[in-house]
Amino acid sequence: MTKPILLSIPHMGDRELKLIKEAFDTNWIAPVGPHINAFEEEFCQVTGAGYAAAVSSGTAALHLALRLLGVESGDEVFCSTLTFIATANPIAYLGAKPVFIDSDRTSWNMNPDLLQEALENRARFGRLPKAVVLVHLYGQSADIDPILKACNQYDVPLIEDAAEALGATYKERSPGTFGRIGIYSFNGNKIITTSGGGMLVSDDPQLVAKARFLATQARDLSPHYQHSEIGYNYRLSNVLAGIGRGQLHLLSERVAARRRNFKIYQQVLGNLPGIEFMPEAIFGRATRWLTCLTIDPATFGADREQVRIALAAQQIETRPVWKPLHLQPVFAECEYIGDTVAKDLFTHGLCLPSGSNLTDEDLEQVINEILAVHHNSSKTHTYMFL
Ligand SMILES: *Cc1c(COP(=O)(O)O)cnc(C)c1O
Repeated sequence: MTKPILLSIPHMGDRELKLIKEAFDTNWIAPVGPHINAFEEEFCQVTGAGYAAAVSSGTAALHLALRLLGVESGDEVFCSTLTFIATANPIAYLGAKPVFIDSDRTSWNMNPDLLQEALENRARFGRLPKAVVLVHLYGQSADIDPILKACNQYDVPLIEDAAEALGATYKERSPGTFGRIGIYSFNGNKIITTSGGGMLVSDDPQLVAKARFLATQARDLSPHYQHSEIGYNYRLSNVLAGIGRGQLHLLSERVAARRRNFKIYQQVLGNLPGIEFMPEAIFGRATRWLTCLTIDPATFGADREQVRIALAAQQIETRPVWKPLHLQPVFAECEYIGDTVAKDLFTHGLCLPSGSNLTDEDLEQVINEILAVHHNSSKTHTYMFL
């Protein structure tokens, strides 16, 4: 049996085990310890963030970010619609209401004009949202400047969900470091991983200190465990921070490997009728965390699902582009601002195996299977015609 080719799997280097062993040797097996502090510092150096708090997941980081900005039950929070549900779940944890915003076609991320218009409208009725959550999708930064400008104009804080975009750039800087708070994820499928983990960053040291406080059960300064606020158990383990330090060291190599995957896919598949890759916006450098494309069934000869199923039969894992959150049953009642850009990307979009540890043979196999679907369907098409 051939080995399956998966979408995006962990890729360890040769320092991680040594750093884990260091944690064991010094018995720092806790959500506190020297690896955590070092990981936070090194993360700031790599991203240019001011201050960072390592936490147990990207979702936890988002939950803390919303809490820090005072989001409460009944508040509204604007949020990109084309994303993984983890972006919006923490809004619901707090009893707040997400309002979803459509993408633009150039970056697949939040459309800045729609945001500007929506904030203008809301300001008129005195109903501004408590925050905006902006996603940087599949390794590509959103167009941050106009989004930040709109937020600043109405004094609405911006949270950046850069879970998928560590290593990307926006005008030479790291997405995630522009807004009031940014978050990253080190889940097993992300560009670097601690098996599970996340980071909250901000230029405001007090916000990050407060994040650490909330992430350790909101313990007041006293020997007898006194609490004046509800907190969480959200800190990252010192063992996992050791993995993170080893992985962080490899970030630029991982970005290069994923961009190389994209290039190889694009060279062959880019010429097929009906195939379009996710464009790389001019304002930055995408990591190609996942290589994504759209398939126009009329010209390609098969639709996205036919391609996905044909590849699955060959043990090749691909995924549809995220189902927009405004189309998710759990958010059916939520307000939506936009058109069908995100919906169309979901209908026709496919994410290809994109791990930094894929071999050239893996890539060739994926490419050949897609070519086979195209050829078979165009053959069927010809027979039908005759
Ligand atoms: C992975 C991901 C998250 C959540 O990160 P976890 O560490 O898995 O909790 C949030 N937002 C986006 C866009 C993601 O892809």
